[in-house]
Amino acid sequence: MKARIGFVGLGLMGNGMARNIAQKGFPLTIYNRTHAKAVSLAAEVGCEIGESPRAVTEVSDIIITMVSDVADVDEVYFGPNGIVDALFAGRIAVDMGTVGAVCARRVGAAVEAKGAAFVDAPVSGGSWGAANGTLSIMAGGTEAAFATVVPVFEAMGSKIVHCGPIGSGQSTKMVNQVVGALNLESAAEGILLALRCGLDVAKTLDAVGGGAAASWAWTNLAPRMAAEDFAPGFKIAHQIKDLRLALQAAAEVGVTLPGTQLVLTHLESVQAMLPDGGERGTQTVIRALQPPE
Ligand code: NAP
Repeated sequence: MKARIGFVGLGLMGNGMARNIAQKGFPLTIYNRTHAKAVSLAAEVGCEIGESPRAVTEVSDIIITMVSDVADVDEVYFGPNGIVDALFAGRIAVDMGTVGAVCARRVGAAVEAKGAAFVDAPVSGGSWGAANGTLSIMAGGTEAAFATVVPVFEAMGSKIVHCGPIGSGQSTKMVNQVVGALNLESAAEGILLALRCGLDVAKTLDAVGGGAAASWAWTNLAPRMAAEDFAPGFKIAHQIKDLRLALQAAAEVGVTLPGTQLVLTHLESVQAMLPDGGERGTQTVIRALQPPE
């Protein structure tokens, strides 16, 4: 019999992830702080709605969280009607947002103190990957907990890697964010150069995307930059959060990341420059290279 899944956080990512879980036939109960999002997904996929993170946990074998930042993870796990109070041996909590290894280890310890298991499993692939079930999932936790949640991960992702103990998924995601940030910046610089040289954008995207300079950012974000489509797949505010976490993690191990610092500075300047800058997609970083005249 399939495990009963609880899902908390139906934003740009969680919506697609929860939909895929339901469509793979898992019994699903969802919760979202803004209730209307839960109502519309439940109407679409025919799942249950829980009144709180705790209520969802009470009826789930595996509870998955996909909220924004460290304070939000704290709220859904430890706040009133939070997840931790409803956990006991045999249950597994899985946090899939990007919050860093320190948070993962702290929440993991609290979950394990209740006799339950914890897996940190941040993802990469954008809201498009979440919608299509093609995320890369980087997980930290015990072998046993990981093995139990793999069938659920398979509903959401096409690459699933057990990186090590609790916190390893988040540490791997920090590496991902550093590489992704520099690819983002390079896509912005490349497409800006193409536009200013008067090149045919479609031909440039095709030629460069077929060679050694190919990247996810070039394929997915450079066309949006060229079209001035700044709608979020991944919000600037979240990338700023992630790069701050990555720089913090790097400082802890005595590594400096000057390129990452530069991208962070560019993202912060776009956030400050545009109304709702933080809510725009990360491709808007191109505006840091072409500020308004
Ligand atoms: P989002 O669209 O802003 O959604 C955030 C979700 O968290 C919403 O459902 C929101 O509820 C909920 N939430 C936030 N604070 C909460 C709180 N204090 N209590 C309860 N619920 C709360 O963000 P997203 O793009 O889905 O990203 C979620 C996480 O995944 C972030 O850590 C992000 O960095 C990471 N991530 C995102 C992407 C991407 O491409 N978008 C890719 C990989 C990883 P409301 O609906 O009520 O606001």
